Amino acid sequence: MRYDVLIIGGGPVGNYLANLLARDFKVAVVERKGSFGGKACTGIIGAENYERLGLPESAVLNKLRGAVFYSRIQSFEIERKSPQAYLVDRKALERWLAERAVKKGVDYYMSTTFLAFRDGRALLQRLGERIEIEADFYVGADGVDSTVAKAMGVQTKAEFLSGYEAEVVGEFNPDFVEVWVNREINPEFFFWVAPVSEGVARVGTFGSLDSFHRFLKIRMLKPTSIVEFKAGSVGFGVRKPWVSGNVALLGDAALQIKPTTAGGIVYGMYCAHALRKALLDGKLQDYEKGCSFVKKQVNFGLRFRRVFLGLSQDDIERVFEVLGSPEAREVIEEQADFDDHLRTAKAILKRPKLLARLIKISPAIVRTLL
Ligand SMILES: Cc1cc2nc3c(=O)[nH]c(=O)nc-3n(C[C@H](O)[C@H](O)[C@H](O)COP(=O)(O)OP(=O)(O)OC[C@H]3O[C@@H](n4cnc5c(N)ncnc54)[C@H](O)[C@@H]3O)c2cc1C
Repeated sequence: MRYDVLIIGGGPVGNYLANLLARDFKVAVVERKGSFGGKACTGIIGAENYERLGLPESAVLNKLRGAVFYSRIQSFEIERKSPQAYLVDRKALERWLAERAVKKGVDYYMSTTFLAFRDGRALLQRLGERIEIEADFYVGADGVDSTVAKAMGVQTKAEFLSGYEAEVVGEFNPDFVEVWVNREINPEFFFWVAPVSEGVARVGTFGSLDSFHRFLKIRMLKPTSIVEFKAGSVGFGVRKPWVSGNVALLGDAALQIKPTTAGGIVYGMYCAHALRKALLDGKLQDYEKGCSFVKKQVNFGLRFRRVFLGLSQDDIERVFEVLGSPEAREVIEEQADFDDHLRTAKAILKRPKLLARLIKISPAIVRTLL
């Protein structure tokens, strides 16, 4: 069988790309798993981009209007009138995208693992047999541990973290996500509590499993109230190039992930549009240029992460005092953008009083962020 484009990996980003390409190209997707979903992922997606990307209402489990930020000793709340983020059922989202792609003519090869490229073809393992598929163009959308990236021989300079996420039964405010920043419990990352409903939330972090268990205790959630537990990984950094010959990387495989929050679904889908354009124009070299917004955000996120890792918990308490002030909350409530954290940081640092207070805590914060 011969295709114009073979997409390796039927995650949200690979399936999204399949939909974008279906009208103009003969497309196939190979997916290692026998069914969709199952990945450790909280499924928080910015509401504005969810709508803009045309993603389905049917996969939305809950709509979040705001966030409560907790440090070791204080907290503040950011609230908006309309939902800012959606909590999504990954399986439903991936399945919806795949079904639509099939209806548009895309071929799916489930339970099929990409092994390597051989003589310009993709060598695949499908249940017990080896098969080969030939395409003019290959896309590695096979996640953070991308086999395609390894086959391309690309360079990776990144920090890889293990992530844990559990669905826990308890009592939650369904309108607000909780963000807990306490480097004494977890020096690597923040904790999140994202409500699915009043009675269930997805609780997670990146770092050590021990930190995760300590947080459950502090948040007064019983490990025995966990009804689902998943582990996964994320990569913050740079993998390059994204195109080599007739092969491109997309989504987590290209590390198109926000190092601030570990969100990768929207950025991967953004870049899918850039890849479609480059393919249609026959100018693959333009693909990376078309993703400049995402590259800028990832670079900002990496700088932000360096600042975070350099702060003590006492510094974080002082940053909380600034961000929890009425002036900062007003800026965040009016201007914060779920997927454009650089814009949010700039809006805060444009206020002279806030800027002066942050410089006092650490000049490096301001220097590094801008
Ligand atoms: C704990 C945790 C929480 C997260 N929470 C969020 C969140 O709230 N919001 C958000 O936006 N992001 C979140 N992320 C990140 C998000 O999961 C990824 O950015 C997103 O899944 C990227 O989609 P993708 O399609 O590029 O890759 P994946 O979702 O990893 O999909 C890759 C697909 O390729 C398949 N595959 C892999 N290897 C092969 C192979 N050799 N052959 C064939 N198929 C293969 C896999 O089975 C998989 O289906 C989280 C990640 C973790 C670990």
